Amino acid sequence: MSYVFHRMPNRPLPIAVAGDGIEVIDSTGKRYIDASGGAAVSCLGHSHRRVIDAIEKQARQLAYAHTSFFTTEAAEALAERLIKAAPAGLGHAYFVSGGSEAMEAALKLARQYFVEIGEPQRKHFIARRQSYHGNTLGALAIGGNAWRREPFLPLLIDAHHVSPCYAYRGRLAGESDEAYAQRLADELERKILELGADTVAAFVAETVVGATAGAVPPVAGYFRKIRAVCEKHGVLLILDEVMCGMGRTGYLYACEEEGVAPDLLTIAKGLGAGYQPIGATLVSDRIYDAIVSGSGFFQHGHTYMGHATACAAALEVQRVIEKENLLANVAARGEQLRAALRERLGEDPHVGDIRGRGLFVGVELVRERAGKTPFEPHRKLHAAIKREAMARGLMVYPMGGTIDGQHGDHILLAPPFICTPDDIDRIVARLGDAVEAALAAAG
Ligand code: PLP
Repeated sequence: MSYVFHRMPNRPLPIAVAGDGIEVIDSTGKRYIDASGGAAVSCLGHSHRRVIDAIEKQARQLAYAHTSFFTTEAAEALAERLIKAAPAGLGHAYFVSGGSEAMEAALKLARQYFVEIGEPQRKHFIARRQSYHGNTLGALAIGGNAWRREPFLPLLIDAHHVSPCYAYRGRLAGESDEAYAQRLADELERKILELGADTVAAFVAETVVGATAGAVPPVAGYFRKIRAVCEKHGVLLILDEVMCGMGRTGYLYACEEEGVAPDLLTIAKGLGAGYQPIGATLVSDRIYDAIVSGSGFFQHGHTYMGHATACAAALEVQRVIEKENLLANVAARGEQLRAALRERLGEDPHVGDIRGRGLFVGVELVRERAGKTPFEPHRKLHAAIKREAMARGLMVYPMGGTIDGQHGDHILLAPPFICTPDDIDRIVARLGDAVEAALAAAG
């Protein structure tokens, strides 16, 4: 019996006692390669000396100062670094403690912006059916995952959903990237017009989808077309890079790849790399200026926002990524990982798709490849793969769920940015064995 209320109280968990580079060690001494970075968090692995020293230094000097009294050097330096590298127009960083909080702040900033500029009728948010934006009530309302939302529906604000950009299942036979992206942008425009263009506050999307479907990148040109539709109707664009941002795709911000700048951009997991809990909402000058020259007060906040020790940790994480040139390693190891997965699993009739960007890689399993027919949900294949992987000393992030009425089993890989070619080989060998064992058991 555990006094900790674990999410799945009936499932006993190993006790993690130490971290060593890309490995986590449990109380029996068993080592696990962290090929998912937890949930795409631990981008520097588990014992980075420089980050630990930075945390210790900040904690000794000043662990915490409430943001209604003070700013801190750590928060200022981190904001400057993030903003100088950010897409054009994003001029300010609002620090919170994680991804859901960053999304709540983004939703409220969008709403308050329209109140400040005299468009209070703009209250609708549009998101995509294949999306996860967090578990707090606002973020959950926006998200498109039916199973997560179901018990809480009476408590959720109204949100509207359009199709995800999910080429493996959503693209029509013979449809080009350009035509598929256009079809999705047209669908968004129709939804905006249906709701009333002057009543829509924002469109919300993950730049590369993470937790609902295992690293689904957009097709080329998709976000440029979406951006154009938003601009045409005065709708803000909120990009959720809580999982895919901060270098995970090989770019510091995933939206850099397509050269699209949102009005609000959320980041979290890789920002503090798990050394401290921290998230941020990057805010455009337009929104910031409207609040500064309007009420002068953002009506939202949390006790631990701008936490000095968390900011110091995140600052050091970002310095390490730059100093060790880790984005180049993310790109190179990501190529290697996808190629090795194709070689090991590409011919398996139950592997439907291998996809991703950088070290953000998804594998989608299917019962029958030609028809892309998923395994029956009751088989819980994704969970079986996780079990088999853990038995082999490998952490991967499994997902099963219903997306657009279709069940799917997905495996997300998000190894630390510091992994070597040899680490990638070990990950693929263990994952290949785990997938084969789980498929054999599934019949
Ligand atoms: N947004 C995305 C894209 C996520 O993947 C997550 C978490 O998985 C969140 C938001 C919520 O972040 P947190 O769990 O830190 O609240």
